[in-house]
Amino acid sequence: MAKMTEETRKVELAITARWVATVSGEVLEHASVVVDGGKIVDILQAEQLQEHYLADTSIFLPEHVLMPGLINLHTHAAMTLMRGLADDLPLMLWLQNHIWPAEKQALSERFVRDGSLLACAEMLAGGVTCFSDMYFYPQAVADAVLQSGMRANLGLVVLEFPTVYASDADDYLLKGLDARDAWRSHPLLTATLAPHAPYTVEDRSFEKILTYAEQLGLGIHTHLHETTDEIAQSLDKYGTRPLQRLAELGVLGPNFIAAHCVHLEPQEMKMLAEFGCHVAHCPASNLKLASGIAPIVDLMQHGVNIGIGTDGAASNNRLDMFAEMRLAALLAKGSSGNAAALPAKQALEMATMAAARALGLDNAIGSIEIGKFADLAAVRIADPETLPCFDPVSHLVYAAGREHVTHTWVAGALRYQKLKGQEGVYANIEPSELREITSSWQSRLAQYK
Ligand SMILES: [Zn+2]
Repeated sequence: MAKMTEETRKVELAITARWVATVSGEVLEHASVVVDGGKIVDILQAEQLQEHYLADTSIFLPEHVLMPGLINLHTHAAMTLMRGLADDLPLMLWLQNHIWPAEKQALSERFVRDGSLLACAEMLAGGVTCFSDMYFYPQAVADAVLQSGMRANLGLVVLEFPTVYASDADDYLLKGLDARDAWRSHPLLTATLAPHAPYTVEDRSFEKILTYAEQLGLGIHTHLHETTDEIAQSLDKYGTRPLQRLAELGVLGPNFIAAHCVHLEPQEMKMLAEFGCHVAHCPASNLKLASGIAPIVDLMQHGVNIGIGTDGAASNNRLDMFAEMRLAALLAKGSSGNAAALPAKQALEMATMAAARALGLDNAIGSIEIGKFADLAAVRIADPETLPCFDPVSHLVYAAGREHVTHTWVAGALRYQKLKGQEGVYANIEPSELREITSSWQSRLAQYK
């Protein structure tokens, strides 16, 4: 125990790691991150820690990289309950013949709560501390998020067609905004308006969404240019491509997150950049549904801010941000013929800082910096498959995986921990209960295979 001196400050938590990958700056070696009130209050050399701080909890991670928690910029958490329900199908067949009928039968507040909790458990174990969601019953998503202790941006979904959740676009909007009112002051939760896609939302509804977004200072999150079919349909129905239609409606701007953007013309990339829009790149989902490969290298050259998302577990089938970072980097190289495209450092930035920026949370999360929330993950670099280690950031993207995550903190609170050789332990989720709940949903959904 360090001796308390006049210069020693009492704090909640100090984490000392072999490496600290700050993302905003260099990788620090043998450094300590000091946390108080849920925020990072200091970052210093490990040998100086005791001289300055007396921590309630001190954690030593001699073989680990401490990194900012990963941010999953586009997902549908509750869809974990449909993981592997229908694979190997193109988007529209997959949606129309499997996912929508299953949702029609199963969708309820309970379904969303249970599925979202399963997703939170998966994400926390994979070093994800924040996700941007889009689904029905956002209040039920919020309940699961708060139980897990994660941070989330909840998309208040809007569609034209009726579901058991809401009857029409106005009703979706109303219910979403009501749900937001219930949690709006919670420090771990933020909201965006989430018109599902240009092909499921009419102009009139986009106009309303825009009005609310401006009045309430909310962002807008939608699926965009995911498939060539979507673009053909739009040309047919509106005489214009979806992005152009949204531009004409006035929806584009620095609060706009477009998920996918697989199919873009050069002038559309320019448009996204000029409006300051953000893209949520979902490489695994785009490949699995054979939608294509998003032109990420070109988008980066245009200066578009790009985060990474997993999309829902029904189309991925993992909520694994390590896998997405690696895939994003590899696809960028393979599709551009340039091995220097999207280096590891930049892939890690996409999964942290760039996503934070897209959510308007770049002053709060996304990097290890004094004043930001202590949303952190520790990754153990000691197993044969991660040795030797010349560059920990390279390992985070190319060699390590979510199975190497040992600790996940959100706002300084330890929400997940996995001791060597043991099953992971959550602060407030019981894995055996999750297994039981999931198994009962599996029985109910099996008929939609
Ligand atoms: Zn999606």
